[in-house]
Amino acid sequence: MAKISKEKRSKIMASIHSKNTKPEIIVRHYLWKNGFRYRLNYNRLPGHPDIVLRKYRTCIFVNGCFWHGHNCPNFRPPKTNKEFWETKIQHNRERDKEEQRQLRDMGWHVITIWECQLKKDVIEHTLKSLAFTLNHIFLTDKSIKNYREMIGNINKHIDIAAEP
Ligand SMILES: [Zn+2]
Repeated sequence: MAKISKEKRSKIMASIHSKNTKPEIIVRHYLWKNGFRYRLNYNRLPGHPDIVLRKYRTCIFVNGCFWHGHNCPNFRPPKTNKEFWETKIQHNRERDKEEQRQLRDMGWHVITIWECQLKKDVIEHTLKSLAFTLNHIFLTDKSIKNYREMIGNINKHIDIAAEP
C-alpha cells in the first residue's frame, strides 16, 4: 500500500475542507441519484459555482448561512469584533449578488441553496423543490427554443414569398 506523506495528507485534508463541504455533498448526491448530471467547480464562470448543470443552463451555489449572510436564525454575527464581521459579511453578500448578476447576463439560471435549508426537517422539501425547479427550467428553455425556431421558419417562408 502506498504511504501518503504527512505533507501530502495535510494537503488532501485542506482540499477536502475548502471544497467538499458537507452540505454541497448532500446536494450533489441527491442530484446524481436522480439522474441530473453536473460538473464540479467550473472555474471559468463568475463566482465559481459549486455545481454546474450545463443541460439545464443552471449554476447552483450551496452557501453557508454565516459567510454569505443569510437572513435566518443560523446567522448570528459574533459579539466580539462585531463591526469587522459585519463589514466582511456585507462584502460577501454584495460580491455574491454581483457574481449572480453576471451569470444571469450570460444566460445562466442561478439557484442558491442555504445550509439551513438542508436541516433534517426541511431537507426533503428543499431537494424535491430543486429537482422540480430544474425540470421546469429544462422544459421552459426547450419551449422557448422551439418557439424561436418556429418564428425563424415563418420568417424564412415570408422571405421566400417576398422574392420576385
Ligand atoms: Zn440560513
